[in-house]
Amino acid sequence: MSERPADIRVHDFLEVEQNLGVAEAVAEASRCIQCKKPLCVGGCPVSIDIPSFIQAIASGDFPTATRIMKQENLFPAICGRVCPQEVQCEGACILGKKETPVRIGALERFIAEWESIQDPILPVKAPPTGRSVAVVGSGPAGLAAAAELAKYGHNVTIFESLHEPGGVLVYGIPEFRLPKDVVRREIAQIASLGATLKCNHVAGRSVTVPELLAFDAVFLGTGAGLPSFMGLPGEDLTGVYSANEFLTRVNLMHAERFPETDTPVRRGSRVVVIGGGNVAMDAARVCRRLGSRVTLVYRRRREDLPARRAEIRRAEEEGVEFLTCSNPVRVVGSPCVTGIECMRMTMCGPDESGRPSAVPVPDSLFSLDCDIVIEAIGQSPNPLLLNEMEGIRKGPRGNVVVDDDCRTSIERIYAAGDVATGAATVILAMGGAKRAALSIHRMLTGDS
Ligand code: FAD
Ligand code: SF4
Repeated sequence: MSERPADIRVHDFLEVEQNLGVAEAVAEASRCIQCKKPLCVGGCPVSIDIPSFIQAIASGDFPTATRIMKQENLFPAICGRVCPQEVQCEGACILGKKETPVRIGALERFIAEWESIQDPILPVKAPPTGRSVAVVGSGPAGLAAAAELAKYGHNVTIFESLHEPGGVLVYGIPEFRLPKDVVRREIAQIASLGATLKCNHVAGRSVTVPELLAFDAVFLGTGAGLPSFMGLPGEDLTGVYSANEFLTRVNLMHAERFPETDTPVRRGSRVVVIGGGNVAMDAARVCRRLGSRVTLVYRRRREDLPARRAEIRRAEEEGVEFLTCSNPVRVVGSPCVTGIECMRMTMCGPDESGRPSAVPVPDSLFSLDCDIVIEAIGQSPNPLLLNEMEGIRKGPRGNVVVDDDCRTSIERIYAAGDVATGAATVILAMGGAKRAALSIHRMLTGDS
């Protein structure tokens, strides 16, 4: 898929990747050999019938391709853009053994863009059951659960604490990877299915737990929005942000346009981003677009960076500097950040995660000048609502403990997505939410 040149895109927030044209999509789909035992489907967390939707594209039958896709996934424009296909469907595609795998993600996105200029094809809805479900959170988990439950004919109300639905899709992932009008377009389908969306409703505060329990079932999709910090000396200096806060200010509140908007953000002339995942890449690339020089500091080696390979490449093309095998030990300044001290790291045997552990090299302290530090080292579930739910079982990282059917320790309350799994991916959140919706449906209707 073609990309806008780095020297142009680094000055704006427009999308980097471009859509496939019709001829390109048909040609790409025609590469699929229609395996009898398609490995790609096994690699898809929501089990889309990939060969069938690709075959429909190859024969130019885009409405059928859309219907097949939407049987399992109502959000192809989002997933086609942000799913890590290289380790899922495309990673499993048989063609990848000898050549380039079929570009399933690009085809998924193509079909979504084709549909966007037609009348939307909505899934068939079952007759009303008269049962009600509260969905808390409107990120990928909440949206997928709401869509499934509405399809089953239940009366669904979504409570979202922010003023706009979408969770990380709107406040975390930047516009240049996932345009917000694309997210809004796919979210609009939830309303078409009859679900009611209530923004500015904080469950555990403006919506109480007894109010939630007045519904026949409750689905928790509150995500993992609580940022982790390293606990460094100097972390309280002005100019230290969590990636979560920084990205929310820019993506959701358009702080880069302050005072035209309500929320300011500090634009650093030199920014240090700590971390090596997708969140770190997003923060670094946003800073480049705000005109900062950016150094990404990561404690392991380059090959250990957990972010998607394509995002690492794009960050590098856009001028983000990578400083690997380095770990911050202190933020310097008073009262504003003026620099950061780091130590060189070396790699040793595997740690508890199975990855090589990084240990400090003695006497290797060095300093970097900077005026902004952004920490992107992980998130955990926000305890606000969970603390209000007496008897809910939580894991060591504050996540809600669920069984295989996504049931929590409280009857009629189910959970999936990052609140249950810890920070993961969009499609894993959606896959878990679909399982939870099926369990809720069975509980409400007595179906086994
Ligand atoms: P969220 O998306 O976090 O949604 C939770 C929602 O619940 C939020 O809208 C929140 O406001 C709301 N909420 C929380 N508490 C309450 C309450 N008490 N009352 C009402 N509402 C509440 N994954 C990928 O697959 N590909 C990527 O490229 C990718 N990039 C990412 C980039 C960033 C910057 C981040 C942060 C994550 C990224 N991820 C990516 C991970 C992915 O976005 C998450 O795994 C996914 O969004 C989890 O979905 P969720 O619905 O569980 O939670
Ligand atoms: Fe087509 Fe690849 Fe799936 Fe086989 S594994 S059906 S070639 S997409």
